[in-house]
Amino acid sequence: MDNSIRLVKKQQRELISLASRLIEIPTVNPPGINYERMVDFIEAECRDIGLKTTRYIAARPAEGSARINLVARWNTGRHRKTLHINSHYDVVPATENWHTDPFIPVIKNGRLYGRGSEDMKANIAAVLTAVRLLRQQDIMPGVNLELSFTPDEETGGAAGLEYLVKKKLVQADYALGEGYSGEFAAVGNKGMLWLEVDFQGKSAHGSQPSRGRNAFEGMNMAAAAVFGLARRLNRKQTRFGVRSLEDARPSLVCGGVVSGGHKVNIVPGRSSFSIDRRLIPEETTAKALCEIEQVLTAVRKRNPGIKYRVKVMAREEAVVSSQDEVFYPLFSECVRNVLKKKLKPALMTGGTDLRHFIRMGIPSIGYSVGGGDRAHADNEFVSIKSLIETTAIFTDLIKSLN
Ligand SMILES: [Zn+2]
Repeated sequence: MDNSIRLVKKQQRELISLASRLIEIPTVNPPGINYERMVDFIEAECRDIGLKTTRYIAARPAEGSARINLVARWNTGRHRKTLHINSHYDVVPATENWHTDPFIPVIKNGRLYGRGSEDMKANIAAVLTAVRLLRQQDIMPGVNLELSFTPDEETGGAAGLEYLVKKKLVQADYALGEGYSGEFAAVGNKGMLWLEVDFQGKSAHGSQPSRGRNAFEGMNMAAAAVFGLARRLNRKQTRFGVRSLEDARPSLVCGGVVSGGHKVNIVPGRSSFSIDRRLIPEETTAKALCEIEQVLTAVRKRNPGIKYRVKVMAREEAVVSSQDEVFYPLFSECVRNVLKKKLKPALMTGGTDLRHFIRMGIPSIGYSVGGGDRAHADNEFVSIKSLIETTAIFTDLIKSLN
C-alpha cells in the first residue's frame, strides 16, 4: 500500500488544480447559488473517470439554485457491500476581512487558501482523484462505490444528504464523510438543545414602575441560576474519545440571543434569552430539558411573581457510530500506513451530515482533508500535505475494503 502516496504525489498538480477549480465556483449558502454549475463540473469529472451519475433534485426554492444532489456509482459486483463517501459542495459566505479574494485560490507556504477549501472542496478533489488512481491502475475494488455530492450542509442539510437517506436513494454498508483529519477520526457528535426562555411581566410608564412588573428583572434572576447550572455541567465528562478536554464536557451557553424592552422609559413587559445546550452521548435532550426546567422552577418558587415560558427551538440527540470489526480497523490501518501514526477516534462537538448514516446504524467515519482547522473562518485553507495524504488514504481504503 505504500505506493499510494507516491502515486498521488505524481498527480499532485492535477489534484491541486482540481481542488482549486472547485473553490472557484462560489456555491455560497445561504442562499445557495451556483449549484447547477458545480454539479455540471463534478458530473463531468465523474463521467471522465467512468462513474455512472444520477441527479436527485430535492427542492426548487424561490431564491437561489435548485437543490441538486449528485450521486456517482461504481458497481463492481451485485452481492458486494457498498462504501458510500459523502462530500457537501456548498460553502458558507465570506466576510470582507479576507487577505485575498476568497474565491480565487492561492497556494502559499504549502497551503491552499480559499473559501470552502477545508469545508469541503479539497475533499471532493481527494475522493475523485482516489477513484481516478484506481482506474488508471486497473484496480477493481472489492466493494461497490457510491459517491454523493450534496448541497445545503451549511444550512442544516435537509435538501442534501438527509434527503437522500430519508428517500432511500443511497445505500451504504459503510459511510465516510466530513470530519476530522490527521490522526483523528470523527465517530459521532454531541447532541444539542436550543431553547428560548421568554419572561412575561407588565409594562408601565418608567416614572411609575410600581404599576408594572419588570420582566427583565425576573429574567436576570433566572439567567444567574442557569449560569450556575452551566458551571456544574463542567464536572461531567464523556467516556468516549475526544480531541480536547473541553470537547469531553457538556456545555451550556446562555444569552446568545437576548431580546425585550422597547424604550428607556418603559418598564419591560417582555424579556427573553436563548440557551444553547450541547450534550455528551451519555445525556439525552429530554433529561437536559428537565434539568433546566428544574432550575427555573426553583427560581420561581423563591420569586413567585416570575412568569416564563420555555420554547424548544431545536433538539438533536448525540450520535455515536456503531463499531464493526471491518471498517474502523481497516481505515485505521490505511491511516497508519500513510501517516505512520495511530488513528484516534473522537467525538465532534458539532453535527455533520454523517449523523444520518450513524442513526441508521451504519458504521461511519468522519474523515476529510484538513490541516487548517479554519472552516467558516477568514482565510480558510487546507494543507497540501493533508490533501495528498488523505487522497492516498482514500485510495488505499477503497482498494482494500470488501
Ligand atoms: Zn462542512
